[in-house]
Amino acid sequence: MAQCTAHLRNGSGTRCKKQAMKGQTVCGSHGGQAPQNKAAAARRLLESIDPAAAELVRIALKGKTERDRLTAIKELFERAGFGEAKRIQAEGELTITINGVDLNDLR
Ligand SMILES: [Zn+2]
Repeated sequence: MAQCTAHLRNGSGTRCKKQAMKGQTVCGSHGGQAPQNKAAAARRLLESIDPAAAELVRIALKGKTERDRLTAIKELFERAGFGEAKRIQAEGELTITINGVDLNDLR
């Protein structure tokens, strides 16, 4: 983990001593807890771990057709170890959370 890149606002110019949050350059006190920053960090982590999985998440959330979205969701479930999905039915809103970040925030 890297050190937070922010500087204290006490006039000393001292750099923050806290650890930067995962996938970010700043700690929680310096913007790392902001929902948009957590979402961006989750997206960067996904893309760095597995670019193909990141693309699947994108399609699952933003695919042009329902068939595209369901196919991507099925693939994600299979990759997550839930076995081959025979049938997926979804009503209402789908919520997928990774490292405490709701992937709907990545839209
Ligand atoms: Zn900091």
